[in-house]
Amino acid sequence: MTSIPATTSASRKSRPQTALTVLRREQLSPHMVRIVAGGPGFDSYVNNDFVDRYVKIAFPQPGVDYPEPLDLWTVRETMPREQWPHTRTYTVRWVDVPAGELAIDFVIHGDEGLAGPWAASARPGDSIVFTGPGGGYNPDPAADWHLFAGDESALPAISAAIESLPQHARGLAFLEVDSDADIQPVAAPAGVELRWLLRGGVPAGDSDMLVNAVRDAEWPEGRVQVFAHGERGYMKSLREIFYAHRGLDRGQVSLSGYWARGRVEDDFQAEKKLPIGKI
Ligand SMILES: Cc1cc2nc3c(=O)[nH]c(=O)nc-3n(C[C@H](O)[C@H](O)[C@H](O)COP(=O)(O)OP(=O)(O)OC[C@H]3O[C@@H](n4cnc5c(N)ncnc54)[C@H](O)[C@@H]3O)c2cc1C
Repeated sequence: MTSIPATTSASRKSRPQTALTVLRREQLSPHMVRIVAGGPGFDSYVNNDFVDRYVKIAFPQPGVDYPEPLDLWTVRETMPREQWPHTRTYTVRWVDVPAGELAIDFVIHGDEGLAGPWAASARPGDSIVFTGPGGGYNPDPAADWHLFAGDESALPAISAAIESLPQHARGLAFLEVDSDADIQPVAAPAGVELRWLLRGGVPAGDSDMLVNAVRDAEWPEGRVQVFAHGERGYMKSLREIFYAHRGLDRGQVSLSGYWARGRVEDDFQAEKKLPIGKI
C-alpha cells in the first residue's frame, strides 16, 4: 500500500481534482475562445463563492506514462516532479450547477505555450482535468466604488466580478485588448463605466495604455476597492500607482500578475515564490 504524506493528503482535500469533457468551443472574439465543459465528472466539482475562482489545468507531458484515468494527486505521490503534468491557471468564467457545466475563456496568443494552443483546437469529447477552484476576491459591498484594471487574461475574472455587482454599484473598468473586435459584452450596472483600451497590434505586455489610463484618470470620490490583474510588468507599475501615488491600503487592493511576457507559466509561477518575484 502506498503511504500518502499528510501534506499531500490535505492538498487532495483542499484542492480536489475534476475531470470534465469538452462540450463545446465558442469563438468569442479573434483572441478569445470559450471552452464549455461538463459531463459525468462535474459531480465531483466543488464550487466556491469567490468571483475570481480559478483552476489549475493539467497538461500531461508527451512521452510520460500516467495512471489511467489521470489522477493528479496519485501522480504527485508516486512520480518524480519532472514528470508531473504542466499546469496552467484559468478563471472559471461561469458555473451552471443545474446544467452541470462550466466555462473557461482562453486568450489565444499564438502558437507558443500549452493552454492557448490547446483551447484553440479543442473539440467536443476532449478531456480537461484540473484541480481547484481557488479564489480570493469578492466585491466589498462597503466600498464606495470599484476600480477594475486588466488585459484580456483578466477579462474573464473582471467580467464575472462586474456582473456580480448590485445594480446601484459604481465603478470604472480599464480593459486592455488588441482591437475593437476583441471587445466583449459585459453586463455592467449603469454606474460602472467600461473603458476599452485598444493596443492596435502592439503585443500584449508591451503597451503602456493600461497603466497610463489608470494613472491619468480622474478618480471618483470615496473609498475605492481595486481588482487589478494581468501581465506582470503592468501590475508592477499599477502597484506603484495604487500604493505610492494614491495611498491605498493593502486591504483595498487585489492585484497580481496573471502571466509574464516572454515566460511560460511554470517559470513565472516559480519566480513568484522567490522574494525577487513577488509584486
Ligand atoms: C489566477 C489566474 C487566473 C487566470 N485566468 C485566465 C483566464 O481566465 N484566461 C486566460 O487566458 N488567462 C488566464 N490567466 C493567465 C494564464 O494562466 C497565462 O496566460 C498562461 O501563461 C497561459 O498558458 P499558455 O500555456 O497558453 O502559455 P505559456 O506556456 O505559459 O507561455 C508561452 C508564451 O506565451 C506568452 N503568453 C502567455 N499568456 C499570454 C497572454 N495572455 N497574452 C500574450 N502572451 C501570453 C508567454 O509570455 C510565453 O512567452 C490566469 C492566470 C492566473 C494566475
